[in-house]
Amino acid sequence: MPAECTHLNHIKLTHTDNHVCEDCIKTGDTWVHLRLCLECGHVGCCDSSKNKHATRHYQATKHPLVRSIEPGESWVWCYADDLMVGELRGH
Ligand SMILES: [Zn+2]
Ligand SMILES: [Zn+2]
Ligand SMILES: [Zn+2]
Repeated sequence: MPAECTHLNHIKLTHTDNHVCEDCIKTGDTWVHLRLCLECGHVGCCDSSKNKHATRHYQATKHPLVRSIEPGESWVWCYADDLMVGELRGH
């Protein structure tokens, strides 16, 4: 890893039962992939989605870390460092 994320102490949770983008549902939009905020549990859509709700959640809250909640994926991304942090172990 070329750089290190200093935000790992922001991780409060790593799982959710919510597998929809609530903000997209409100406006009747669809999404491509989902990202889970590891600080507050917000689920938002990825940057390939029209609304980019995960990125917008970071811009609004400064919660730095998200993980992919796509099946079989456990990588963590840090918005603050613009860095792929790595895989969550045991998930
Ligand atoms: Zn970081
Ligand atoms: Zn969305
Ligand atoms: Zn959050």
